[in-house]
Amino acid sequence: MKFKELLGLVRFLSNSGGIKGFIGVIEHAEQEIMSMSDLVPAGDQAVMRLDTAPPGAGVNVMIGGMPLRQKMSLLPTFLKVTSSVGRCGQYMYDKQSPSRSDADHSVWTAIDQLARENGAVEVGFVRIDEHDIFEGFAIPYRNAIVFTVDMEKEAIDTAPSFDAMVEVLQTYASLGQVALKLTDFLRDQGYGAYPGFPIRGVVDYVRAAEQAGIGAIGYHGMLISPTDGTRQRINLVLTNMEIPEPTPNPHEWILDFCAMCNKCVRECPPEAIFTTAEVNPVNGRKSTIHYDRCVEYYGQNQGCAVCVRVCPFSQAGYDKIMSGFLRRQASRQAA
Ligand code: SF4
Ligand code: SF4
Repeated sequence: MKFKELLGLVRFLSNSGGIKGFIGVIEHAEQEIMSMSDLVPAGDQAVMRLDTAPPGAGVNVMIGGMPLRQKMSLLPTFLKVTSSVGRCGQYMYDKQSPSRSDADHSVWTAIDQLARENGAVEVGFVRIDEHDIFEGFAIPYRNAIVFTVDMEKEAIDTAPSFDAMVEVLQTYASLGQVALKLTDFLRDQGYGAYPGFPIRGVVDYVRAAEQAGIGAIGYHGMLISPTDGTRQRINLVLTNMEIPEPTPNPHEWILDFCAMCNKCVRECPPEAIFTTAEVNPVNGRKSTIHYDRCVEYYGQNQGCAVCVRVCPFSQAGYDKIMSGFLRRQASRQAA
């Protein structure tokens, strides 16, 4: 473990800086990305990243308010996350000159398998839209392998709770591990590759996952995928490897379902989810989430995740919901 990671951990335990020391590790690695040559800059419609730990809110409050006993029991998980994120960061300092970029189905299949063997659930390929790179950042490559790791239903069903929060943190650790495996594989094959950070990141992962066709974004602002509904987190690996041609996203019907469902809108405790997207005054992007309300509430309530729990896709399963929805649509049209 590097000194900065250790420092983040000490600050976490001593409650003298919350997660900010840990975030410093990521910030350092992000600066290293910006020192690379031939970067792809953010597009002119790119938005500001809404950080997950603004001072006095969100994760800082959540960790700061924890009793020492809970902090201690969180230590093994936090160590895993710190190690996973720290190792992702180290790859930014280890720059390589790729010897190839060509790829075909056999490579894409091998990547898909490797990701799944290491814990990924959904895997897709995407050319990152330059407007989905956060303002002020840039990326070494526009092609990406994007993947999800699921969160255990038993834990999420208890949200908001300490167990649900631990599950979210564990998922971040796994996301880093999958990214590292894929990056190593790609580099061994001669491709250029950099792992995404499981926490924060310089690209809008949710939009990247939707663009990759592995799900659609619901009213709660998260990806809904066929396998885990909303019970998942996302990461990616940026690469110079050629990727498959994009195909139409088969999950776009989900937005029509959201318009009928509205369950997260009704159940979000601080009323932070809207049915109509509004312009976020901080970053100018339209969204159905009131970011500040959400962050303030989840900071005081163990990461909240009520919207993840109540979303029907996290409970009933994608195929069941789709067939019921399509049946209803058909009978409405026939009436
Ligand atoms: S995490 Fe909680 S506060 Fe935030 S949008 Fe979801 S339900 Fe609302
Ligand atoms: S709870 Fe309903 S409205 Fe909210 S994201 Fe899930 S499906 Fe959409």
